[in-house]
Amino acid sequence: MGDTPPQFTFEPNANAVSAAERAGLIADPGFGRVFTDHMAVVRYSDAKGWYDARITARAPLQMDPASSVLHYAQEIFEGLKAYRLPDGGAQLFRPEANARRFRHSARRLAMPEMPESLFIESIERLVEADRAWIPQADGAALYLRPFMIASEVFLGVKPSSDYLYMVIASAVGAYFKGGAKAISLWATPTYSRAGPGGTGDAKCGGNYASSLIAQAEATRNGCDQVVFLDTKEHRWVEELGGMNIFFVFEDGSLLTPPLGGTILPGITRDSLVALARAEGLTVREELYGIDQWRADAESGRLRECFACGTAAVVTPIGQLKGPDFGFVIGNGGPGMVTGKLHDALVSIQRGTAPDPHGWSRRL
Ligand code: PMP
Repeated sequence: MGDTPPQFTFEPNANAVSAAERAGLIADPGFGRVFTDHMAVVRYSDAKGWYDARITARAPLQMDPASSVLHYAQEIFEGLKAYRLPDGGAQLFRPEANARRFRHSARRLAMPEMPESLFIESIERLVEADRAWIPQADGAALYLRPFMIASEVFLGVKPSSDYLYMVIASAVGAYFKGGAKAISLWATPTYSRAGPGGTGDAKCGGNYASSLIAQAEATRNGCDQVVFLDTKEHRWVEELGGMNIFFVFEDGSLLTPPLGGTILPGITRDSLVALARAEGLTVREELYGIDQWRADAESGRLRECFACGTAAVVTPIGQLKGPDFGFVIGNGGPGMVTGKLHDALVSIQRGTAPDPHGWSRRL
């Protein structure tokens, strides 16, 4: 079966939007609603391996209603961005890390592991076709969404024999409307995101489906985002619905919860750990209890707190609220260390600073 990777064919979109319309769409795109002209598609079957790789016009899918993803949620995805460079060029940020995590997610969901070179090629080919869609504005980028679904037409509960892999692209502005404004978190007393042995460290749609009710609870309680605690003791801070979390202390040191299998190993998290250490800061990957969080915020030992991810970049956290408590972190606004790390990361991503770690992949 297909040991040689399939070659991509290119079928240009005959109904691509005009340059003028595109310019209007990407001027203020919001998040996740403005899509480009093309998409990447690769198919997989147990019999053939990877085959039928195409860059083609973005269009609705036709699916059999018995396709197994629709019933048992055998689905994984990734998220990364292409950035416009000052010289008009473009680059991706650490796509090999997304390729590796995609394979990890595939393994956990009993799906075929896509070769990393094929994953990266699918993204590069799509960005090449839709390069004009990469916005220029500060904070804006082309968000890429690779995903894979189980497409076997069968109602039995088992790993699918067929899969559809695709990449779509969306011009995006800032994820949070408030820009650099600090967000508030809700510590849900009701719900958990992931437990030991579960799928917490895989990027699968099911994790997000189960987190939505907790996010709704956060919104109902006047908070921007939900923060999840561990399932066993309901004490240790894990992560947000779609972001990792960092704490900054008065001695300038940082702490982020360790990757123990229940949280997503964020590429932004990993990059910030490296950037902070390169700045000479101490970063501990250690458990942090919610009781300690509160005590440290109240004593002033905790100075700053921030969330991070591809979409949210680095977002300050100003407050934590629970059913019977609430407290402010630092002065409740964006902190200095948070701002410095944000700028250090963004300047590498956007090609305005040197890239000593070799994270950028120019297109
Ligand atoms: N945690 C969760 C649950 C996420 O969905 C994301 C976004 N992918 C992150 C953390 C941050 O990961 P990354 O920095 O790779 O975007």
